[in-house]
Amino acid sequence: MKKVLVLAEVRDGQLRNVSLEALTAAQALAEGGEIVAGVFGADAATHAVTLGQHGASTVYTADHTALAQYTPDAYVQALTQLIELASPDAVVLGHTAIGRDIAPRVAARLGFGLVSDVTGVEAGPVFIRPIYAGKATQTRKFVDGTTFITIRPNNIAIGAADPSKTAVVVPVELEIKDLRTIVKEVVRKTSGKVDLSEAKVVISGGRGVKSADGFQPLYDLAEVLGAAVGASRGACDADYCDYSMQIGQTGKVVTPDLYIACGISGAIQHLAGMSSSKVIVAINKDPEAPIFQVADYGIVGDLFEVLPLLTAEFKKV
Ligand code: FAD
Repeated sequence: MKKVLVLAEVRDGQLRNVSLEALTAAQALAEGGEIVAGVFGADAATHAVTLGQHGASTVYTADHTALAQYTPDAYVQALTQLIELASPDAVVLGHTAIGRDIAPRVAARLGFGLVSDVTGVEAGPVFIRPIYAGKATQTRKFVDGTTFITIRPNNIAIGAADPSKTAVVVPVELEIKDLRTIVKEVVRKTSGKVDLSEAKVVISGGRGVKSADGFQPLYDLAEVLGAAVGASRGACDADYCDYSMQIGQTGKVVTPDLYIACGISGAIQHLAGMSSSKVIVAINKDPEAPIFQVADYGIVGDLFEVLPLLTAEFKKV
């Protein structure tokens, strides 16, 4: 039996889904032991009910002006203090921008192990993670000592909430000092209202969209489907869209239920970021495009003709 600490992430006042996935993974890891959660920020306590219903027996909340916006400096200090307080055998975070940044820093500082970008946890516990840009899968078992685990969003089914479960809320006083960085302003560059890395439906554009305006039919369909809009690096390099939308080996990794690739050839570096999507639809006017080899459904055609038709049809549903 192990004690597992989950660092829950809040964005725009909402608990991120990956934090609930992390709690599900924590149950496999704890093997009947205790699961506790930590949340930072002014409204941290408001998430205790959800975290409790998903298995956390204790929720440590910590508010500090330095934690209002993420900086590695402040978060490393905060998480280190939380770990010293909770003394867990394992620490689970989302494999998000924050999780990827902070987990190795704190693991190195405390001499812990790290298994990153985990897509599955099996009895043992054994961790499953993709390697070589998704071409192979590695299974790893942690034998000794405390370890960090980061969970790739959208891969572990969130366990059902149990309304009878409640968590004890423990406010924690943190000492955060000697900060070398502060956030003065946040300028958002998002692909839309839906968070790309957690979206259930992603519509991506490649060089085939031909211009920034060429993304409009993708946004129109995204609006109807409640989808996020992503892009290939080809489209980003051509300045059709912002790099925050890039999906692939050097961009974001997404695992939506539905991925619609529009005017994307299907280079291996792009596939590394989306090939584990549950259903892949490719729209490309070249029937030989490699994207069709990974697609579940292929539409050979001009995206500027196909997308408006799809949008019109989905509007009827
Ligand atoms: P192209 O390969 O030019 O394909 C455009 C496609 O659009 C073609 O298949 C064409 O048939 C189709 N098309 C054109 N017009 C239409 C139309 N009207 N309707 C329908 N289809 C149309 N790429 C990424 O995406 N993500 C990464 O993270 C990434 N990382 C990289 C890292 C490294 C180290 C390197 C070397 C490369 C990386 N790349 C990455 C780049 C990658 O190799 C490809 O160059 C890139 O993915 C190509 O983008 P694309 O498919 O949009 O463009």
